[in-house]
Amino acid sequence: MPIADFARYPLTFGPSPVHSLPRLTEYLGGATIWAKREDVNSGLAYGGNKTRKLEYIIPDAIAQGADTLVSIGGYQSNHTRQVAAVAAKIGMKAVLVQEKWVDWPDSVNDRVGNILLSRIMGAEVRLDPAGFDIGIRDSWNRALDDVRARGGKPYGIPAGASEHKFGGLGFANWADEVQEQEKELGIFFDTIIVCTVTGSTQAGMIAGFAGQDRPRRVIGIDASATLDKAREQVARIARNTAALIGLNRELREDEITVLEGWAGDLYGIPVQSTLDAIRLSGSLEGMIIDPVYEGKSMAGLIDLVRNGVIPKESNVLYAHLGGQPALNAYSALFTN
Ligand SMILES: *Cc1c(COP(=O)(O)O)cnc(C)c1O
Repeated sequence: MPIADFARYPLTFGPSPVHSLPRLTEYLGGATIWAKREDVNSGLAYGGNKTRKLEYIIPDAIAQGADTLVSIGGYQSNHTRQVAAVAAKIGMKAVLVQEKWVDWPDSVNDRVGNILLSRIMGAEVRLDPAGFDIGIRDSWNRALDDVRARGGKPYGIPAGASEHKFGGLGFANWADEVQEQEKELGIFFDTIIVCTVTGSTQAGMIAGFAGQDRPRRVIGIDASATLDKAREQVARIARNTAALIGLNRELREDEITVLEGWAGDLYGIPVQSTLDAIRLSGSLEGMIIDPVYEGKSMAGLIDLVRNGVIPKESNVLYAHLGGQPALNAYSALFTN
């Protein structure tokens, strides 16, 4: 059925802002670059892409009579922080399994930024020593069981809200929102740049844009450093989402593009190009991006514009998906 017919619980301010990045555009000397800002999409704990996904997941949690949202991520997970905020907003509890996805030596990694915000918002935060994996884990099944054992009614939301039947809907809706904003601005974005890890952000975009008349490229920049898994997950969720919203054709392989080259060797560990991208977008545009996700996708954008893979006449829309609170756990990288 059409996306407009799915239940949506409003958690965002409305359409997220779209604006040009003229100084970055001039500096790179190629395509024209714009940003669409999910980092300011909501008043709930600094927002972000997961807040948009949750708009289509929360109605299901409410319909099932849940009283506790249970989710999982790394210590500095933006996703679990957004789940905590949404739980507070709708009067539910939150239980968050925070795994040691990133072996990052900052002494306050488990205390500042996202995890701090989740604690402030009243979530039960459970630190777990398990490493990075975007799949479904035993630890959150255990958390679900614990809530039940206490007499609660848990609703499980997997990592990044991706492996959920409605995980792709938020960004399928984003695609329609982009089309509306293009009409107002009198512009067409032929290329979208988006950071990809658990996959449903890019997958939703692909499914949403596939139903529009004018084709465009959605380029995912892998930040998981496990490209094959990420690509497989994007493809699967894009196809599921396309079927859900009634796209009456199969998605083609060439519609699913996830590029590697900017993730470094490990999820959550920035490399030189990440740090350069963070300083560049900060110093040229006052636009803050983080070392785990957007710093890597911006590094990809910079290279693709500079090397002409994205041609000069292109209008590029950079999807800023949020994530700045994690910067607090990476302060040592910016002490001079
Ligand atoms: C989760 C997240 C991503 C990746 O989105 P997926 O849907 O997991 O691929 C990118 N940027 C930020 C800031 C995120 O929090």
